[in-house]
Amino acid sequence: MGIAAAETVIAWQSHEGLRISQAAGLDVIDCAMCGFRHVVPLPDSRAESASASPLYIDEFQDRLLFKHNIEVPVIPWPRFPKRLLRVCAQLYNSTSDYEKLASALKAEL
Ligand SMILES: [Zn+2]
Repeated sequence: MGIAAAETVIAWQSHEGLRISQAAGLDVIDCAMCGFRHVVPLPDSRAESASASPLYIDEFQDRLLFKHNIEVPVIPWPRFPKRLLRVCAQLYNSTSDYEKLASALKAEL
């Protein structure tokens, strides 16, 4: 089965997949390469080295949590300093949650 005309495939570096959502110049894709739904493009980490702690992975994840009250994993992928923001959608999430994330990304990136 082919892709419907309304669906758009987004490619970023080696990540590629159907666009699920779009806001603030960012796309959420269903990535065929890594299997995650994530935001692209996400700039490389500005940290000097990868975190050694499993409890602290990326400063950007803390900024989203403490400044915007948004809990979303930002993980090194495929390796530091490349990273991705993994969208973990659940039934209790609403469109306004993703709009809030888009606004936070626009403010922080
Ligand atoms: Zn990916």
